[in-house]
Amino acid sequence: MTAETTRDPRLGELVDGIVRLAAGDHSVRLHSSPARDEVDAVMIGVNILAKDLAASYSELEERVATRTAELVAAQAELERAALTDSLTSLSNRVAFTRVLGHTLEAAMAGEPAPALLILDLDSFKGVNDTMGHAAGDELLRLTAGRLLGCVRSGDTVARLGGDEFAVLLPHSTEDRARSVASRILESMREPFDLDGRRASCGTSIGIRVAEAGQSAEEVILHADIAMYAAKAQKGSSVKIFEPVMLYARELETLATTELQSAIAEGQLVLHYQPVVELATGALEGVEALVRWDHPARGLLMPDQFIGLAESTGLIEDVGRWVLREGTRQLQAWRESGLTPPGFSLRVNISSTELQSLQLIDIVRDALLASGTDPAELIIEITESSAVAGGEVDQYSLLGLHKLGVRLEIDDFGTGYSAISYLQKLPVNVVKMDRSLIKDLNPCSTQGPFVAAILDLIHACGMRALAEGIESPEQARTLRELGCESGQGYYFSRPVPAAAFEELVRGWPAGA
Ligand code: C2E
Ligand code: MG
Ligand code: MG
Repeated sequence: MTAETTRDPRLGELVDGIVRLAAGDHSVRLHSSPARDEVDAVMIGVNILAKDLAASYSELEERVATRTAELVAAQAELERAALTDSLTSLSNRVAFTRVLGHTLEAAMAGEPAPALLILDLDSFKGVNDTMGHAAGDELLRLTAGRLLGCVRSGDTVARLGGDEFAVLLPHSTEDRARSVASRILESMREPFDLDGRRASCGTSIGIRVAEAGQSAEEVILHADIAMYAAKAQKGSSVKIFEPVMLYARELETLATTELQSAIAEGQLVLHYQPVVELATGALEGVEALVRWDHPARGLLMPDQFIGLAESTGLIEDVGRWVLREGTRQLQAWRESGLTPPGFSLRVNISSTELQSLQLIDIVRDALLASGTDPAELIIEITESSAVAGGEVDQYSLLGLHKLGVRLEIDDFGTGYSAISYLQKLPVNVVKMDRSLIKDLNPCSTQGPFVAAILDLIHACGMRALAEGIESPEQARTLRELGCESGQGYYFSRPVPAAAFEELVRGWPAGA
């Protein structure tokens, strides 16, 4: 008998079982024999081991499955957070661009194109500055709710950042986009209740109906450009993108860069126009008017660049320069004995500057740097910005008043404001707009009208100044009506500093 023929057949099954077990097959069950010998004992042991392994393996599997589900949920939550604006719970810019991209791809495949609306709140910064950031956050949340109330379920509303929101209307038309935009304007017109305080915010909306083949970035850029065009209008408004806006934007970018370097490279200059005491004809002060001495385009007047400076925020730099240079010049004239103490400098401040919390510091710095007596500086603010003023404007006006600087309402008669309102402001002088003076001659009916305005100004305890005096008759009539001061081409056009010095030297003595 060979060893082969005498081998116990259970050994083969045993070896096979152990190999399967080692390979991870926990279903191995060996058949022990009734002999109950040592081989059977090993086989039973293998079975017990296989059962134990199977049990702990399935427990492990269960734990892995639970953990995997947790990880998937966490991953989904992370992804959701990465695509959601945490303040409003709307989609954020990333999510929005993605959805827009998918919609544009569908448009390429022949589906109708989507329309995109971009909205910006007009005076959000004012709410943040005056009512605090918590109120600002609440305003954004309430805006999100109102926007959601203006769209259908398939539309996407997103917050792109700051106070900028977007609405995507898949399969849209210009008409539908327009009607959603007007619904939004209507809904935003209602004042917001911010923890018991009411606040209103204008809204500017730009619309771009996408064209097949456009990228998401391009559509967003176009809607954004249209939104800026809407913002340039007074009050809440809607603008549809037009290709010419792109060109205008390029020009504006170019002009902004140019203006920026103009300020830095000293291309701004001040021209000075005398202010005359009408009763005596004496020089009482001067108004500084800014010009841009452009290397290629020549001398540019304020209406050619102040608007750009205002819309790009550069007005603060322009204003800072004007105040610095104006007060420096005033002090130099004073020290050289050209102008007497009390001779005043008028500087124009735009409504954007008035809304800046920096204004008081900028004025204070200019006064300190030049050593100017604050009482010799008169800040001119236009009637419309004085009337439109929010809380920051009030803060600026009071702050300037506290510095000892005098305030003047410019262009009075163009803003339809009640003088009783202006009386509440810390204003010392009212400058009547030249449109009131234009037709003033001894035979016109304008005389009694101007007389009534002068009476009102005086009744409010303020002094009056008339701008745009072009003839001796106008000067005489105004003097007879009791207008204290005058300014206009009749006395002198605005001139550069050197010419102004000549003018002062030649001014009639004792006038
Ligand atoms: P404004 O402050 O009302 O200045 C008076 C404007 O009327 C000046 O125009 C002046 O040249 C012009 N003017 C003066 N007398 C007469 C006259 O007898 N007849 C006529 N027809 N016009 C006269 P300008 O220099 O072009 O300034 C225009 C506006 O630009 C100013 O109106 C002011 O609002 C703004 N501006 C000027 N300089 C600055 C500045 O430094 N900062 C800011 N923010 N605005 C400025
Ligand atoms: Mg002025
Ligand atoms: Mg004026």
